[in-house]
Amino acid sequence: MTLPDAASPDPSADHLMTRCPTCSAQLAYVPGTTSLQCGSCGTNLVFEEADIAAGRAYNAWAAEHAAGAATRPATVTMQCEGCGALTDSDSVATTCQFCASHLVALSAAPGMVMPDAVLPFAVTAAAAKEKFRRWVGHQFFGVKALKKVNAEESLVGTYLPYWSVSTDTETQWAGKRGVDHEERRPNGGTETTTNWSDQSGTLTRRFDDTFVPGKEQDLDLTVAFSTLKTDDLVAYQPEYLAGFSTARYDIDPTDAVESAQGRVAGQIRGDVTRAIGGDRQKIEHLQTAYSAITFRLVLVPVWMMTFMFAGKRWPIVISGQTGAVYGKFPVNRVKMVLTVAAMFAVVIIATLLFMKMRA
Ligand SMILES: [Zn+2]
Ligand SMILES: [Zn+2]
Repeated sequence: MTLPDAASPDPSADHLMTRCPTCSAQLAYVPGTTSLQCGSCGTNLVFEEADIAAGRAYNAWAAEHAAGAATRPATVTMQCEGCGALTDSDSVATTCQFCASHLVALSAAPGMVMPDAVLPFAVTAAAAKEKFRRWVGHQFFGVKALKKVNAEESLVGTYLPYWSVSTDTETQWAGKRGVDHEERRPNGGTETTTNWSDQSGTLTRRFDDTFVPGKEQDLDLTVAFSTLKTDDLVAYQPEYLAGFSTARYDIDPTDAVESAQGRVAGQIRGDVTRAIGGDRQKIEHLQTAYSAITFRLVLVPVWMMTFMFAGKRWPIVISGQTGAVYGKFPVNRVKMVLTVAAMFAVVIIATLLFMKMRA
């Protein structure tokens, strides 16, 4: 006799219903609102926005969960309400491969954390296309053929998983403060000597919302997300994901907390250096205790596209919150070399003329 598998999912109850109540077409989240809209008949359904709760206590989570869950394959099964097909997906949100219905999972795969907060899309697909078109137009050295890249075909709205880590810190430090003195030498001139004195102390500081990626990315988006407006964070609700894809994270909270602490440690070193003061500083001892560590899984909206050129992938990311464009554009080397050569020529001719005039 075999026992029923307790972990087997109930597909019908496991994903968001995105069927229009009027015409049965698909509802999708409308950027910048708190509503779902039918792409066919325009029916609009408003949902309530909620404030985000406090973060998850990291130590309690770590005691219960072994690290490495994110790297293990884990899927959620969702049954499409449009065509009835079953989709095994490791994404939080995706589309039915048979009828393109929107599938948003309502529970996480075993051992995985559900999103806690979301920065809802504020930039529509049309606005993102316009931002992309203008960005391409500004690529003076860009390969001309690629300026016709059609954003409409390949633009995908997706939420990227990020970890937001907050922590209290207490740092014991000891070091030496160096104060420089100018001394006159007997035979003239001056000499700098440094007087060193012992310094030590304790620094306490709280670090809120250090953002680290929850998923390996093609592009380094550190710069992009140093400007995240966290005021716009709201409590996670599956409605925000309807019509957008959302990958699950593959970097565990354990690794996220470690990399957040690495970043925090850099700032603490700066604090200690300032606390030592003087003209020169030596840090001889530095020990930081982290406490009250909390974390949140935050979904960050982006419009993404990738094009192939010269056998290479060129990923472009447009912030779904601000519309800022991040990415590199293939450079037309011939145009670049000719432009630089022309600039040199102008400088050389001007120099020659100037010398001739003086002669
Ligand atoms: Zn409808
Ligand atoms: Zn379907």
